[in-house]
Amino acid sequence: MSPKSFKCSKCSKTANDKKLSVNCDSCKIILCGDCHGMTPTEVRVFELKTIARVVSFLCVDCKSLMAQIPNIMKQLEDLPKEVHHLRLRQNMLVTEGAIQELAERTKRANNIIIYDVPESTSDKPL
Ligand SMILES: [Zn+2]
Ligand SMILES: [Zn+2]
Repeated sequence: MSPKSFKCSKCSKTANDKKLSVNCDSCKIILCGDCHGMTPTEVRVFELKTIARVVSFLCVDCKSLMAQIPNIMKQLEDLPKEVHHLRLRQNMLVTEGAIQELAERTKRANNIIIYDVPESTSDKPL
């Protein structure tokens, strides 16, 4: 196997043209020319290592993840608030439960338990 051959992470095609392959800067998968959707010129610019590279390539998966980051950040911001609300709600439920149990016990304590109920007189054959 030639050291220059690589396997595309997307289509699993083994290709030899390293020039047309691209590594995702985030998840480091290697994509072939068919899958990364860049022109050879774009790839060459992307692969320039002599200058400080400001261009970063992200695969489709990472791009869609990046697009979700603002939403995720927003959800993370709201999380402590939500936890606080849930705790309050839980406390309320616990208190409600305790009150109900207390009421139930009081009700039961007031019930008159009748003793001396005549037992069944039927003979049980052994
Ligand atoms: Zn591919
Ligand atoms: Zn990626």
